[in-house]
Amino acid sequence: MQSTKALTPFEEVNLFYDQAAERLKLSSGVWEMLRRPWRELRVQVPVRMDNGEMKVFTGYRVQHNAARGPYKGGVRYHPQADEEEVRALASLMTWKTALMGLPFGGAKGGVQCDPNQLSLGELNRITRRYTLSIEHLIGPNRDIPAPDLGTNAQTMGWMMDAYGQIHGYTPAIVTGKPVELHGSLGRDSATGRGVGYVLTEAAKDFGLEVRGARVVIQGFGNVGSWAARLLHEMGCRIIAIGDAKGAVYQPRGLDLQKLLRHHTSAGTVAGFPEGEAVTNEELLELDCDVLLPAAIDNVLTGRNASRLKTRLVLGGANHPTTPEADAILNDRRIPVLPDILVNAGGVTVSYFEWTQNLQEFRWDEDRVNAELKKTITSAYREVYQRAQQAGITYRQAAFEIGVQRVARAAELRGFI
Ligand code: NAD
Repeated sequence: MQSTKALTPFEEVNLFYDQAAERLKLSSGVWEMLRRPWRELRVQVPVRMDNGEMKVFTGYRVQHNAARGPYKGGVRYHPQADEEEVRALASLMTWKTALMGLPFGGAKGGVQCDPNQLSLGELNRITRRYTLSIEHLIGPNRDIPAPDLGTNAQTMGWMMDAYGQIHGYTPAIVTGKPVELHGSLGRDSATGRGVGYVLTEAAKDFGLEVRGARVVIQGFGNVGSWAARLLHEMGCRIIAIGDAKGAVYQPRGLDLQKLLRHHTSAGTVAGFPEGEAVTNEELLELDCDVLLPAAIDNVLTGRNASRLKTRLVLGGANHPTTPEADAILNDRRIPVLPDILVNAGGVTVSYFEWTQNLQEFRWDEDRVNAELKKTITSAYREVYQRAQQAGITYRQAAFEIGVQRVARAAELRGFI
């Protein structure tokens, strides 16, 4: 495969999209309509900092496609959150919600900032200003934001409040809220739990024993830390974990309770005394059964894919695998389960949260987890079967199912 180094994240995602569109024989007009975002907004976010100075941040909301329902997607606070990254993530949401059969389209938002360098007050003010700048495009039946990299339940509480100051009390405007503000039980752990449900199914198909499986995880935020806890409960041996500040390796299996305590006090997994310090590059190349990149984009690339020593890759982060890496891993017969399937537990429980808010009726956590299991397990089965029947990769199968559903919805609505 040709080097894709020069491609932007959005162009990379569109390579996957184009393959699906070609196999589905979409007409050129439909192909183009589903490829590009329907609407994009770039805004200034001027904020008074704690030291009294005014700073201007840049924010985005990209609404990729709403043929199947209101736009849905997270808001990312990260220094590299630029137009092309947000576009890529918005399009991934379109294919993900369609693959999961959720009644949503796809969107994504972002503010270019480093949340680690900002106080709570500054983050609150950025969030309010950003919400006011995109308020005319969002709504519980238009576009429903959620947390992503660098944002969390508290951010969603601020967004809900800022939106409510204009439109009145509207909990269904965002998902991933604190439970006290009518967030769903089980939303916090949902993405990690979804990873566990997918692994349970995949293990049967790929001849893996979950109990004792050696797992390496990059990222110890919402997705990585919950996945670590839940996979550990399932009997996996979590042998290494990394975050932005470093990584730790313990071939006998990390003591997660102790690691969580260390992370709470140190703010990182780095420096955990009961393991060997490794770099993030070394982490990804450790000998393991399951590799779960659950931090940032583009970590499995043409440079390291030939050196991975895993039996299965689970896409926990969004777009962790470049098309070049995908092709190399496919040649090496290392199955890669795509992010639009593996990390879809978050948006699935976001859907349950939105439903509960609209019904003004709370589900108990067992119901949330049971519905999540049903939804993600059946999506996994569809992807697996399609890949086997058509002789294509799991990513190609997942994109094909998603793209086909969006194209059909567009046709039935009379766009075509
Ligand atoms: P988070 O902000 O809670 O955690 C991110 C983790 O990644 C932290 O441990 C951080 O230290 C680590 N990290 C950041 N930069 C890194 C680097 N350069 N090298 C190594 N580690 C680094 O974010 P999250 O919500 O867990 O999201 C992680 C990924 O999963 C993102 O790609 C996000 O889009 C995706 N995702 C999240 C959800 C969700 O429900 N939160 C759902 C679907 C997909």
